[in-house]
Amino acid sequence: MLSFEHRYATLPEPLSVECAATPVANPELIAFNAPLAAELGADEIPDETTLAAWFSGNQTMPNASPRALGYAGHQFGNFVPQLGDGRALLLGEVVDQHGKRRDVQLKGSGRTPFSRGGDGRSPLGPVLREYLVSEFMAAVGIPTTRALAAVTTGERVVRQLPEPGAVFTRVASSHIRIGTFQFIAARQDEAALKTLADHVIERHYPEAAKADDPYMALLEAVVARQAELIARWLSIGFIHGVMNTDNCSLAGETIDYGPCAFMEQFNPQKVYSSIDEGRRYAFANQPAIAQWNLARFAETLLPLIEGEGDALVEKATDAIRHFDTLFNAEQRRLHADKLGLEAESDQAEALMEGLESQMHQGRMDMTATFDVLTQYAASPSDQRHDDLLALTQNPEALGEWLSQWQAAQVASQNTDRLAAMQRANPVVIPRNHRVQEAIDAAVEGDFTPFHTLLAVVTKPFDDSVEARRLAAPATENEQVLRTFCGT
Ligand code: AMP
Ligand code: MG
Repeated sequence: MLSFEHRYATLPEPLSVECAATPVANPELIAFNAPLAAELGADEIPDETTLAAWFSGNQTMPNASPRALGYAGHQFGNFVPQLGDGRALLLGEVVDQHGKRRDVQLKGSGRTPFSRGGDGRSPLGPVLREYLVSEFMAAVGIPTTRALAAVTTGERVVRQLPEPGAVFTRVASSHIRIGTFQFIAARQDEAALKTLADHVIERHYPEAAKADDPYMALLEAVVARQAELIARWLSIGFIHGVMNTDNCSLAGETIDYGPCAFMEQFNPQKVYSSIDEGRRYAFANQPAIAQWNLARFAETLLPLIEGEGDALVEKATDAIRHFDTLFNAEQRRLHADKLGLEAESDQAEALMEGLESQMHQGRMDMTATFDVLTQYAASPSDQRHDDLLALTQNPEALGEWLSQWQAAQVASQNTDRLAAMQRANPVVIPRNHRVQEAIDAAVEGDFTPFHTLLAVVTKPFDDSVEARRLAAPATENEQVLRTFCGT
């Protein structure tokens, strides 16, 4: 079905090791992403039994050559020299219809040489969460790994309690992480480091090869992509939850959806993940953490970048500092779009600051706020005005903000701005309680809520009755306060 190539397998040995999947008892297909398969150049899609056998690892797909990848990483600030794919296997790479090389990987396919104490398996819940959230991210245009397939295994995995097991098939621009560079750097193998860096340049940043100092250009390009990515996350309230350096993709994609969640009531200090006790990865900390991670990446590259001593460190530090400028520029553009204002004017930033403070003080739901604001911009009416004020606990203050915004919006009004607003503000996001509801039903054998939610969140700007039902913020009783890794 897919024409696999195995370029990564030719890189030095510790970067990947051959490893077979461990068969499961009774694989059954939950979902298969046919449009994505077509994008990957799939021909002749086989029947569901074969798909279930392939995407559980029970049968090796033709031309696949499963390998576990090595990487290290800083987990919550502490360096672990060897992590690696403890429950994942790269099947190979395919060159997609746009000529882009992409990885296909099984996750939850059994133990590998990197499993340490783990069972190599994945419970159903995290598989469905990653499917829903990554496909939503793709639908709103945020760089992300994708979901190709999900299967149940017919086996139980034991976490706090026994849960149904599942295998997820992930497609990524690559699975090379900051932690991959840290893995090689920790071994002080400069030749392997150069081979890896050259591979990343060729695969993700070909323009860097032409620079006077290609590895410096690589660092700058990676910084730029991260800055853009994190600004995009913040624009829709996404909290990754585990921004360890091993979960930071060199391709600039969102990767490793664990206890991730979307913020509901706006609060910059929001944390959902049960394991983030120090609140390291709170919503508003994400840019600073990305920058910290990038500094760890820069350290690994120092032996390759031209220059020496303090001057070299200063040069690399400047590239990391530049994150702020790039992040702010992207955020400025996104804020202007979300408010339907011109990016060039300073008004958008001041108004966004005002609205964030309104959302925070008034305990407003972030997604609903921008959605109703967009509807109001499209057709201002007393009803829409009241709908907006109904979102806050502090209607008087919001009313004042609204008149300032309206004055600015009317002044800059053109159809482009409204269209930008409609593209920037999704009607529906995968709300935590809806994701949980879909998981709970699936654990009981009913996958209908999962499929319904998937259909809605992959058309996040469509306004339908079903979208409106699933878009509604959680009531007090429905609220999900904590999310879990489930690994
Ligand atoms: P994650 O939190 O998913 O990014 O995983 C962090 C590290 O733990 C990675 O090296 C994973 O491969 C490993 N890991 C997570 N879950 C398991 C598991 N069930 N079995 C083996 N290794 C695991
Ligand atoms: Mg990870």
